[in-house]
Amino acid sequence: MAEGAAKRIDDLRARIREADRAYYLLDSPVLSDAEYDRLMRELLALEEAHPALATKDSPTRRVSGEAAEGFTKVAHREPMLSLANVVSDGELDEFDARVHRLLDLPPDAPVEYVCEPKLDGLAVELVYLEGALAEGSTRGDGAVGEEVTANLRTVGGLGANAGVLARLRGRSPARLEVRGEVLLQKEHFEAMNRVLARQEKPLFANPRNAAAGSLRQLDWRVTATRPLSFVAYEALRPGEPGWTTHWAKLEALAAWGFAVNPENRLCRGMAEVKRWKDEMAERRFALPYDTDGLVVKVNGLDEQRRLGAASKFPRWAAAFKYPPQEETTRVERIWASVGRTGVLTPVAEVTPVRLGGATVSRATLHNEDELRRKDVRIGDVVLIRRAGEVIPEVVKPIPERRTGAEREFVFPSRCPVCGARVVREEGEKVHRCTGAACPAQLVGRLTHFAQRRALDVDGLGEAVAAALVANGHVHDFADLYALPAATWEEMEIAETKTGSAVKLGVPRTRRIREALERSKVATLRRLLFGLGIPQVGEATAATLARHFGTLERFLSASEDDLLGVRDVGPETAGEIRAWIDEPQNRRVVDRLVEAGLRPAAEQAPRGGAFAGKTVVLTGGLVKLSRDEAKAEVERRGGKVSGSVSRKTDLVVEGEDAGSKAEKARELGVKIVGEEEFLRMLGEGAP
Ligand SMILES: [Zn+2]
Repeated sequence: MAEGAAKRIDDLRARIREADRAYYLLDSPVLSDAEYDRLMRELLALEEAHPALATKDSPTRRVSGEAAEGFTKVAHREPMLSLANVVSDGELDEFDARVHRLLDLPPDAPVEYVCEPKLDGLAVELVYLEGALAEGSTRGDGAVGEEVTANLRTVGGLGANAGVLARLRGRSPARLEVRGEVLLQKEHFEAMNRVLARQEKPLFANPRNAAAGSLRQLDWRVTATRPLSFVAYEALRPGEPGWTTHWAKLEALAAWGFAVNPENRLCRGMAEVKRWKDEMAERRFALPYDTDGLVVKVNGLDEQRRLGAASKFPRWAAAFKYPPQEETTRVERIWASVGRTGVLTPVAEVTPVRLGGATVSRATLHNEDELRRKDVRIGDVVLIRRAGEVIPEVVKPIPERRTGAEREFVFPSRCPVCGARVVREEGEKVHRCTGAACPAQLVGRLTHFAQRRALDVDGLGEAVAAALVANGHVHDFADLYALPAATWEEMEIAETKTGSAVKLGVPRTRRIREALERSKVATLRRLLFGLGIPQVGEATAATLARHFGTLERFLSASEDDLLGVRDVGPETAGEIRAWIDEPQNRRVVDRLVEAGLRPAAEQAPRGGAFAGKTVVLTGGLVKLSRDEAKAEVERRGGKVSGSVSRKTDLVVEGEDAGSKAEKARELGVKIVGEEEFLRMLGEGAP
C-alpha cells in the first residue's frame, strides 16, 4: 500500500515539476490549470495520508516560479505573497468569519472589503526612488525575482491610462514600492498569435503566458514590440506614515498616474462582496483582459496588520476563483456543422469534460484557416476554453502529447447535409453550402429564432428543429405557430444520446407550445435578433428596438432613418433595408403578426438611475477613461453628450476642465467631481 503510494507520489511530483518548468521557465503550459490543480490536490492528500513520505522539496511545499537563468536576481524587501484560493460562497463565508474572529468583531458588524478583478498576468514590483523608476522585477518565488527594469519601462497601461511610469506625478516619497500585474489584453493576444502563426512559430496558450513570455525577454527591444499593460494594485512606502485603508492606496496610485483597475469595488460586508462577485462572473467576459476570479482584501490597513500572515498566505486577503474555463481533453472527431447562413464551421467533438460548471463535448474550430493555423488534428489532446460563449473553442493542440496516430481533417467539398457544392468565395474566410433548400440552414435559422436570448422557445433545440424540417412540417418561423398539437406529439425525433428515434410526446409538446405562446409578447429586441437579419446581432437588435420602439416603425424605416441609429453604419443599414425589402421576409413577418406576435415595447434598462439623464464629461478622469465613463453611464440608462446646454442634467468635471464646466456654472447645471461621480456609479443614483 505504502509502496504504491510512494510510487504515485514520485510520479505526481515529477509531473508537477515538469509542468512548473514548462509554465514558468518556458512560458508554454503542458497541463491545463484544472488538471494541474487536480494533480496538486492528489499529491497533497497522499502526503497528508503518508506523512513519512513528505519531503521538504516537494512541489507542495514551495511557491512555484523560481527565477530563470540569464536574469539578475532581485530580493523583494517585503515578500510578495500569493493568496489563498477560495472557490465557493461557503469558503468566502469562512474567510469572513475568521476575519471577524481574529479581529474580535461581533458577527453582524460588516467588514469593509476591497474587491479587485484577479488579473491573469505576471505580478511585478516597481521601486521608485525620489519619484523616479529605479528598479523593476518579477515576483519570482515571492522572495527573489528577476530584474527586468528595461523591459518594464516599455509597458503601457489600460485604456487611455499610463502604464509603467518613468516618473511619478506630483509629490513622491523617498522610496515607493508599487506592485501590480503585467498583462496582455485579449485582442493583442490574438493579434500576436496571428503573427506567430504566420512565422510558423509555436503559439501562446493564453494571454497570461504570452504576457510572461513577452516580459521575460533578455532583450528589452523584444518586449517593446509587445503591447503589454500594467495595472497597479499595491503600494508600500517604508519609513513614512502609511495609509489607513487599501482603498486610499489605490487612490494614491491613481493620483501618481498609474492605471488602476476601474472595476475595483469597495464593499461593505461579505453579502455585498458576493453580489459583486456574481455580477463580475458574467461581466468579466466583456472586459478587454482575462480575469479568472476576484481578489478580496480587508480594506483597513490596521486590521490587515492585526490579521497578519500565515505560513504562506496573508490572512487578510483571499482570491475567489471562478470555475475553470479551460480544460484539456481529446478530439475524437471533427466535422463540419452547417449554420443558418450556410456557413460550414469545423467542430471538434471531444471527450466530455467539465468546464465552467457544465459538461462540454463540443468545441468550435471557427473556420478552416483557424483549423490550419492551430494545426488541430483528430486524436489530438487539446486545450479548450470557454469565454462567455455557449460553445467553447479549441485554443491549441498540445503537440508534446501526440502519439503519431493523429489525423488531419479534410474539409468537405460537398455539404454534409444536402450534398450541394461547398464554395469559399474570394476574400471570404468561410466556406458556404450553395444549396438553396439546404435543410441544415433552415434548422440553424429555427434554433437561432428559438434560443434563450431570442424568442426563448424552451424545448425547441437542434433535435426538434431537425425533425420539424426533415418531416416538412416547418418552412419558416411562422409555421411553428400554426402546427397543430397532434403533429408535434407524433413527431419522431432523434435522441442525442442514443441516436434512437422517440416521439416528442405530450409533456414536451406542451412545454414547447407554452413557450411559443409566451414568445408572442417577447420584447422587440428579441424578435429582431431572432429573425436573423444580416449584421443584426444582439446589441444592434437592442439599439434598433430602443430607437424605433415598434415593429411597424422598424419595418417602415428608410435607409436614412437606419443611418440615424447609433452604431449603425452604411453597410448595416443597407443590409437591413435589403432584408426588409425581400418579399419572402416580409411575408414571414406578416404571418408572424397574423399568428398573434405582438412584440412588447422596450422598457428603460433596469436599475437605470441615470435613466433619461444627459451627462457631459469634461477634463481628464483619473480612474476611468472617457470611453469607460461613457459606457458606465449608458449601462445605467443615461446618455453622454459632447456639449453643455439647458438640457444637460449633470456635468462631471475632471482635471483641467475648461469652458464646458464654466458654461455649466453659468446655466446652473449640477457639477460633480470624479470621486462623486464614481460614488454615483457605485450607488447608481445621480
Ligand atoms: Zn447544405
